[in-house]
Amino acid sequence: MERKDFIKTVIGVSAMSNLSSFKSFASNLKEEDEKMPVLFVGHGSPMNAIEDNEFSERWKKMGKEIQQPKAVLCISAHWLTRDTQITAMEHPKTIHDFGGFPKALFDVEYPAPGQPELAGETAKMISKTSVGLDHDWGLDHGTWSVVKQMYPDAKIPVLQLSIDYYKPAQYHYDLAKEIAALRKKGVLIIGSGNMIHNLRMVDWQKLNEPEFGFDWAIEMNHLFKKNITEGNHHALINYHKLSSSAKLAVPTPDHYFPLMYTLALQEKNEEPVFFNDKVIGGSLNMTSVKFG
Ligand code: ZN
Repeated sequence: MERKDFIKTVIGVSAMSNLSSFKSFASNLKEEDEKMPVLFVGHGSPMNAIEDNEFSERWKKMGKEIQQPKAVLCISAHWLTRDTQITAMEHPKTIHDFGGFPKALFDVEYPAPGQPELAGETAKMISKTSVGLDHDWGLDHGTWSVVKQMYPDAKIPVLQLSIDYYKPAQYHYDLAKEIAALRKKGVLIIGSGNMIHNLRMVDWQKLNEPEFGFDWAIEMNHLFKKNITEGNHHALINYHKLSSSAKLAVPTPDHYFPLMYTLALQEKNEEPVFFNDKVIGGSLNMTSVKFG
């Protein structure tokens, strides 16, 4: 009996294939020559998941422009927890966490695999807090609406890291610094939210206009971009001091916190590339940014 046949007999074929797939994934996560970029994506309406519009077209193009990641790690505005969790299941479910949309949106499934080994490895990188390995969540629309357009064949593993909603912006910024090495391991990190997100003030009649912003939203879109361009992270962490309009742009920080993760992962000499730079519906912006 040859050695490989002996091993098959002893540990069983399926155990061996699990072992070899784990080994190949682990070796795939060796440091890459080229760092993955890091994105902040303004996700806007869940309908962007199924509509072909200028925003979703740009996401599709982005998926083709950048090097193929080995995995995607998303920090979505829609997973807020009292601690920090990372999805660690083999098959994350598609969560339809919204109401009042057409059936076609509820029918969407995005069956990307998870990657439990990467979840464990990422949790270990974070020393700021003990990161829980989650088996209940899945992929919420902050993640799948964007990632489905970027990678429609759902072959790339997708994970989510939750946002501890009881912690301030600085905490999220500092925590994100600890996972910087993932960029060199082929992991595409995406913060998914909206810098300006005031649903109560949305002018629903004008939401379908190509561009419409209240004066304060146009001011804040400009101020956010100016500070991102200048690398002024301190000012962006203390966003409420940027202008009296900040409290209208960020009435609650859920959609703003994902930007903290993206900014923290910007490396020196990485210039921002803005995309989908638009204020819509009066009080939302789709403005997104790529570093690297
Ligand atoms: Zn959202």
